[in-house]
Amino acid sequence: MSTACAALVVAIDGPVASGKSSVGKAAARHVGLRFLDTGIMYRAVTWLALRSGVAPTDLDAVADLAAGCRMELALDSDNNTSIIADGLPLGDELVTAEVDKNVSAVSAVPAVRVELVKQQRAIATSGGMVMAGRDIGSVVLPEADLKLYIDAAPEVRARRRHAQIALVDPGVPYNQVLSDTLRRDHVDMERSDSPLIAAADAVTIRTDEMDFEETVSVVVAAIRSVARPDHLAE
Ligand code: C5P
Repeated sequence: MSTACAALVVAIDGPVASGKSSVGKAAARHVGLRFLDTGIMYRAVTWLALRSGVAPTDLDAVADLAAGCRMELALDSDNNTSIIADGLPLGDELVTAEVDKNVSAVSAVPAVRVELVKQQRAIATSGGMVMAGRDIGSVVLPEADLKLYIDAAPEVRARRRHAQIALVDPGVPYNQVLSDTLRRDHVDMERSDSPLIAAADAVTIRTDEMDFEETVSVVVAAIRSVARPDHLAE
C-alpha cells in the first residue's frame, strides 16, 4: 500500500477471466484507491432471478426484478467489495457455473443495465476509484482519467476461470468452461446495448504471457503515469 490517489478514476474493461478484477483490485490497493468489480452486480441480479424461478430470457420479469431489488455494496478495509441483495449477503453463490451460464443473458437486458449503471456512477462520484467491467470506459465512466482494456486468448482465460470455479464447483470439466467462455464472449461482444469493446482511448494490456504480479506492476505504472499532483495525498 502506498500513496493514495484521492479522486482519480480508472476504468478497466475486458472479457471474462482476463484478469481485470483480480489485477484491478490489487493495483487499486497498491495506490490507495477503492475498487469495484461491477460483474458482481450483474451476477447478483442473475442469482436472484434463478432463485425466484425467473427465466433469464424473460425480459420484463428480469427488468422488474432489477428495479425492485435493493442492492447494497460494502467495501471492507482490505478492498473487498461484497454485495447485499434484498438483505442477503452474497458471496460464493455468485460464482457458480449456473450463474456463469445465465449472467450474459441477464446483463443484455437494457432495463437491468440502466439501473445498475445508475448505481455505478453514483459510487464513482463519491471519490476516486478503480472500476472494472465490460462497459466502464465506453459507457459508465467515459470521462475516466485512465481507461485500460485487459485481454488474453480464450484458452488462457478459460484455464484461469476453470481453476476459480473448481474451488466452489469441483467436477466442472475444462471444456465446458472453455465453451462457456466463448459463448459469454460472443453474447457480451455482440449485444446491442453496451457491448464489450475497448474504448477508443483505452490502453490495451495483453496478459497471456504475463503473470499476476507483472500485470499488477504494469497497471500500477499506468495509474501513476496519469496521476496529477492533486490526486496524490501525502
Ligand atoms: O466480470 P464477470 O465475469 O464477473 O461479469 C459477469 C457478467 O456480467 C459478464 O459476462 C457480463 O455479461 C456482465 N457484465 C456487464 N457489464 C459489466 C460487468 C459485467 O455486462 N460492466
